[in-house]
Amino acid sequence: MSYTPKKCSFCSRLIPLGQGIMFIRNDGATFWYCSSKCRKNASVLKRDPRKLKWARAQRFRSEQVSSPQTRMKLAEATVATTKKK
Ligand SMILES: [Zn+2]
Repeated sequence: MSYTPKKCSFCSRLIPLGQGIMFIRNDGATFWYCSSKCRKNASVLKRDPRKLKWARAQRFRSEQVSSPQTRMKLAEATVATTKKK
């Protein structure tokens, strides 16, 4: 059995093996939370992680945008548009 590390659905921190809370919504969507703080902020208080400094979800999204693969795609798209002219 292989273990793939889970990321917290709220703060996007990696959850250590054997820890964390799995929350399954009535519609079947699965969420992993690293702590009860993240679970309460997401499901009870319904806070947006992008507006909280301690939640790293926003930082994770910005890392995705600046990843080498997406930068390559952006560069290819700009080259393709400049060649057309
Ligand atoms: Zn968390």
